[in-house]
Amino acid sequence: MIPRALFPLLQCPTCQARDLYVIAGAVCCGACGSTYPMHSGYLDMMPRGAEFGYVSKYVAEAAQLADELDYRELAPPLLAAGVRNRELLRLLQFTPNDVVLDSGCGSAKFAAWNAEQVGLMVGSDPATLFADAAIAQVALVQSDARVLPFADHSFDKGFSIDVLEHFPRDVIDAYLRETARVLKPGGRFVIFSNTRERSPLQPVIDLSRKLGQLFVRLGVYDFEREARRKSDHLKALETWEDVLEAMQQAGLKPVRAVFWNSLFTTFVEHVLMKLGEAVVGRTRPTPRTAVVTTPPSHAAPAAPAADTDNGTQREIRARQRFRGYLQRRGVVYYSLHAVTLMMELDLWLFGWMRSGSYFLLVEKE
Ligand SMILES: [Zn+2]
Repeated sequence: MIPRALFPLLQCPTCQARDLYVIAGAVCCGACGSTYPMHSGYLDMMPRGAEFGYVSKYVAEAAQLADELDYRELAPPLLAAGVRNRELLRLLQFTPNDVVLDSGCGSAKFAAWNAEQVGLMVGSDPATLFADAAIAQVALVQSDARVLPFADHSFDKGFSIDVLEHFPRDVIDAYLRETARVLKPGGRFVIFSNTRERSPLQPVIDLSRKLGQLFVRLGVYDFEREARRKSDHLKALETWEDVLEAMQQAGLKPVRAVFWNSLFTTFVEHVLMKLGEAVVGRTRPTPRTAVVTTPPSHAAPAAPAADTDNGTQREIRARQRFRGYLQRRGVVYYSLHAVTLMMELDLWLFGWMRSGSYFLLVEKE
């Protein structure tokens, strides 16, 4: 959505002027003359005439990824996303007056899950693969995190979930600099990302992975979709020292860190849940879901149409069914909630133990 409360925060991403006005269907800059169209559900505030060297895979391949990421329908915050969301809430302590930014929001699921708790929830991303629930509840802005279209000191709080690991170092620095600029003094921001560091518990964690790989070899399930999702992870901040140094450089003071040594989590994700998906997704649904879009003849599609019943399809199907069960808040919902709490034990028990995945709460100095 594009609520009225969003407009006072905006500034021109092309020339940084605050001199903006609204005409039918667009926001215009009085200084440089750029126009920013309002689309259904979100506002396009991408900088005009700028060329950036780096473009995220999610932007470059948005259309192709759209189907695969299965982003439009939102499930409740459960499993790994549930653990992230619960920790986010603990660290940021939202209040009803907070103006909050989800920078690099993706489908804006975290923004949507928490929008009701705050005064204004803004989601910002260069790709516009927004979930339906986000379009209904979150102020959505298509923008580039290196030149955010928001005035200085606009936000009380903000967060960045699964974002930094996708960027090269110069983009990370620009991202953090802009984050610091748009936060109010004393404003707080949570980052969830990961470095290349290994958990001290890795040998034990690997047991779950090996068990998962065994099931893959036996054809019970596969990890295609995960592999695709992680295919552009750069992890330019290689160590925890790199993370702290980048924060300091941006003027963001670390307040609290919680590491995620994924002992329980890996077991749940690589064994328990995959087995569940394999069982639930195994049977084909009625043929009406077998939508085959005819590609334009010149496009030379690389995707094989014949064996679409691969792991990805099966997993998406399983997810769709899970979501059906979850809407009803029955046994499946409460079971998954219990599994989520089990995964969260990783934070309670090992959150102090330095490892690759981290939640970092920082404060603007
Ligand atoms: Zn301008």
